[in-house]
Amino acid sequence: MDFELSEEHRMLKDLVARFVKDELMPLEAGVMAREAEGKGLGLDPADHARLDKIAGELGLFGLDAPEDVGGSDLPMTAMVGVEEEIGRCVTPYTLPPDSPNLRMLMQTVNERQRQAYLAPYVAGETISAIGISEPGAGSDPAAMTTTAVRDGEDWIINGRKIWISRAADADFTILMAVTDTEKRARGGISAFLVDKGTPGFNVLRRIPMIGGAYTYEVALEDCRVEGWKLLGTEGNGFAPMQLRLGTRRIEMASWSIGMAQRALDMIVDYAPQRKTFGLPLSERQAIQWWVADAATGIHAARLMTYDCAWKLDQGRDVRQEISMIKSYATEMAFKVVDNAMQTFGAMGMTKELPLQQMANKLRVMRIYDGPTEVHKMVVARNLLGRRR
Ligand SMILES: Cc1cc2nc3c(=O)[nH]c(=O)nc-3n(C[C@H](O)[C@H](O)[C@H](O)COP(=O)(O)OP(=O)(O)OC[C@H]3O[C@@H](n4cnc5c(N)ncnc54)[C@H](O)[C@@H]3O)c2cc1C
Repeated sequence: MDFELSEEHRMLKDLVARFVKDELMPLEAGVMAREAEGKGLGLDPADHARLDKIAGELGLFGLDAPEDVGGSDLPMTAMVGVEEEIGRCVTPYTLPPDSPNLRMLMQTVNERQRQAYLAPYVAGETISAIGISEPGAGSDPAAMTTTAVRDGEDWIINGRKIWISRAADADFTILMAVTDTEKRARGGISAFLVDKGTPGFNVLRRIPMIGGAYTYEVALEDCRVEGWKLLGTEGNGFAPMQLRLGTRRIEMASWSIGMAQRALDMIVDYAPQRKTFGLPLSERQAIQWWVADAATGIHAARLMTYDCAWKLDQGRDVRQEISMIKSYATEMAFKVVDNAMQTFGAMGMTKELPLQQMANKLRVMRIYDGPTEVHKMVVARNLLGRRR
């Protein structure tokens, strides 16, 4: 067994680490200050444009996109290291394009969609959203009730979506809808490309989430979508959607490792310096155990995530591994960050350190793309099911 990264992937990880250190870290204090003033967790548009330019020049666009649309076609094992580095900093920047929707598009687009949607997406010219969750269907997306019905060449979509990130800003939303109410998740759910501004795609409200993030509620009211914007084939949207969710979950595990590693690094730097009752915190068993537990959890999560990514790259079914790493890594990192906040005392409660922002990010990550309990249910169901 060889757990070493290849030379090429290690160099890429180092390059992203430098990008994070030189470009993202210097923006972090400003981002946190604006969030503390109630202005949301966003990047100044000029900073965003500058970061895009630098990332593009460094060849960091479309890392896992196909080569024929300008990408580098890198495997998931390479992306784990990239996302771990990105996860270390709370400056909200992701290397374009966002991988989950990219993976879904790659698996489903026809030639026309490839040129119209995939190519500009890979080039970082467009942003996308995904509309799965509904007021009555979150953890169980198969329970969705939004419908798409044929009308001549077009589709008419009706329903309600909620918690949709970027819905108001995205150039297009991949919208999931039921096209066969009998078959549902077994051949009755389809994916559609819905452009920004399409009549009937009505953003109802912006919902402030913890940590300065926002999601949106969207009503689909006789929303007419041209026939060629059906993604993949009719009724077969569920499997590519799961692939998309799987990609995000591996990313989330990688970000969690990055956050936990930074929190651990902060404890290791700070604990020897801070004296209480005449001794540095680093000489207290409570803090030592937090350090040891953090290092152990990070090591375990990293190995599990690389193992999952490697198996995925081999074309293996990794649904079980994905549920394990998504729940394990987010919970592990949440605990590590919480212990780091405790180590820093009152300073750990401020909005001047990145720890509180990491805690907020991890808190929502324990919910979105499947709550921890649901992933544990999946793992247990697979095991218990096998025994029957
Ligand atoms: C910040 C953020 C961004 C999001 N962005 C998007 C987006 O872009 N697009 C999109 O479509 N959705 C998005 N979501 C929605 C997200 O995927 C759902 O919130 C998530 O799937 C959980 O659904 P729910 O909120 O309806 O919780 P519910 O399904 O109501 O579950 C509530 C709780 O019940 C428990 N639970 C549920 N089922 C089980 C079970 N089987 N066994 C044991 N316990 C269970 C869990 O503890 C769970 O946390 C986002 C959510 C957040 C918080």
